[in-house]
Amino acid sequence: MNRPANVDVLLQPRPPSPLQEIRDDRFERHGVRLLLKRDDLIHTTIPWDSDLLGPVDLYPPGNKWRKLAPNLRAAVEAGHDTLVTFGGAYSNHLRATAAAGRLLGLRTVGIVRGDELAGRPLNDSLARCAADGMRLHFVSRAEYRGKAEPPALARLVDGAGAGGAYVVPEGGSNALALHGCAGLGRELRGAADVVAVACGTGGTLAGLAAGLAPGQRALGVPVLAGGFLDAEIRSLQRAAFGGPAGDWSLAEEFHHGGYARVPAALEAFAADFESRHGLPVERIYVAKLLWALADLTASGAFPRGTTLAAVVTGRP
Ligand SMILES: *Cc1c(COP(=O)(O)O)cnc(C)c1O
Repeated sequence: MNRPANVDVLLQPRPPSPLQEIRDDRFERHGVRLLLKRDDLIHTTIPWDSDLLGPVDLYPPGNKWRKLAPNLRAAVEAGHDTLVTFGGAYSNHLRATAAAGRLLGLRTVGIVRGDELAGRPLNDSLARCAADGMRLHFVSRAEYRGKAEPPALARLVDGAGAGGAYVVPEGGSNALALHGCAGLGRELRGAADVVAVACGTGGTLAGLAAGLAPGQRALGVPVLAGGFLDAEIRSLQRAAFGGPAGDWSLAEEFHHGGYARVPAALEAFAADFESRHGLPVERIYVAKLLWALADLTASGAFPRGTTLAAVVTGRP
């Protein structure tokens, strides 16, 4: 494989992801327009050369691709041949990193939270990482938490046999990733009054807000309970842009009990949305976002005439 050529093919500027209007009475009766920013379709807009890359299924696409792309370029330009990153057993970010590594001919190492997983059959998500060539290294939860401190992080990376590799943080959210996500905001300039996105690490919201035009605002819906994201987003923006960027806020009350919790009412809402609109609804993030927008609209949080854009960050 010709690595530099792959980088150029994969990382060349892409057309914007599709923006689609949804007709839904729950929004229309409050005078609110709902648009879906289909970042789940990003892979279909990656102009790849099949002779060069072979069959490609960059699952999961969406915001993970926007965050990874500038990191991949930086890693290759600095001459790295290995990427190391972190995630839980169902991490979309691990999967995106493994897929990108395969496409670019970079080795990938995934440090996975939970040493009880070692020696057990891999779940579908980790099996997919392994199939894309990622070497999985399982560590205890205590060791995993150590990645927050530089010396413990270095020990963790060395312990995984990945010393000297390009380190991508958990969830892919670093300063370069925010610059990648600012591109999402720029694609939405002039298109909506409020742009809403589900938040895990908050990196996507932090970058998105910076890319919007003055007068537009970004609304984040955290899928984890805890209320720690506000400070996290400020610190990510400081690292990427030198200070606060854009107009953003969080709607903290829509986590439905915490990460990956999908109570029956949320499941029913998501299934109904799928059948009304023929759109697959990813449950961990996107379902909570759409629920939050329907709920906020019903309670009159958006004045009549508001155009909302919901970022569909991934597919099931
Ligand atoms: C990772 C992920 C998010 C959250 O992105 P952050 O930048 O970590 O806030 C949202 N939606 C989907 C589908 C994801 O995989």
